[in-house]
Amino acid sequence: MKIILLGAPGAGKGTVAKLLTQVDGSVQISTGDILRGAVQAGTELGKKAEAYMKAGDLVPDELIMDIMKARLQEPDCAKGFLLDGFPRTIPQAEALKSLLQELGISLDLAVNLEVPREVILDRLTTRRTCSNPECQAIYNIKSNPPKVDSICDICGSKVIQREDETEEAITHRLETYNEKTAPLIGYYEKEGLLMNVNATSSDTVVKAIRERLGI
Ligand code: AMP
Repeated sequence: MKIILLGAPGAGKGTVAKLLTQVDGSVQISTGDILRGAVQAGTELGKKAEAYMKAGDLVPDELIMDIMKARLQEPDCAKGFLLDGFPRTIPQAEALKSLLQELGISLDLAVNLEVPREVILDRLTTRRTCSNPECQAIYNIKSNPPKVDSICDICGSKVIQREDETEEAITHRLETYNEKTAPLIGYYEKEGLLMNVNATSSDTVVKAIRERLGI
């Protein structure tokens, strides 16, 4: 499947993407994971992106499009992909449209995960992430804590609170979402690709997507 997952930070895009990869081998492409990996590895990309990310601001569109242009042409994308956290702005959506045309790829759906603001705020302040850039497993101190305190169940690395998940950075990320990313809902509606889903449970979202695509 070739799907864009839209929704505010904390709407569950990453969780839904991970579940969908198990359906048909499509790969999850998370620009946030790629960028955090680059920051931890200290690459040129990481150095350029770090300050924007810490502040909860968006990384410039050109940097993101360079990443995506390369990533979408890797062989594992042939089976399909789940775009998680990309596109985030109208210029990124337009650049993606031209890129996909150039590569002869057509999208199946843009799924908008709808979650009430109180739920989002609660999820983001209680979310914890594995610090290993290769893993980045997601936990929640209330609903899904690691089995051993602060240690990742999967790889044994330390589980931490992301620097952009302080209350101040979260408020800013949500404002950025409303201003820059929410307009993508109307954009994909016009493109005839939009599907709105009530995303309080990730299993329900996966079921709705599978039903819609008949898989
Ligand atoms: P995420 O894990 O998707 O919440 O992304 C974490 C941070 O990475 C965001 O707050 C942005 O600073 C940056 N980021 C991730 N994806 C994008 C994107 N498509 N465009 C611009 N910035 C991004």
